[in-house]
Amino acid sequence: MTDLTKSTSPLSVDCPTCRVAVEWIEKNTFRPFCSQRCQLIDLGEWATESFRIPQAPSAAMDEYELEEMERLLADQEDGDSDHSNSEPHKGWIQ
Ligand SMILES: [Zn+2]
Repeated sequence: MTDLTKSTSPLSVDCPTCRVAVEWIEKNTFRPFCSQRCQLIDLGEWATESFRIPQAPSAAMDEYELEEMERLLADQEDGDSDHSNSEPHKGWIQ
């Protein structure tokens, strides 16, 4: 009996969108979705979900921008001191 079940249903998954059983076969190009429509619906939900929680990415962006700003400022200072340190006319200027 178990052999029979194996041969009749190779492998099936539930469509994440409409929960319909989808056979995991070449024919079902949109697996695990039953159709392109369900795939698009799921993708759309993902998109709206990421739009719904903008705090995480924007906060990370702010932190990144802050770091970038600090690095730019540090670079400027470093660059200036480096420049005058390695500047051959340093003694001439003083
Ligand atoms: Zn579906």
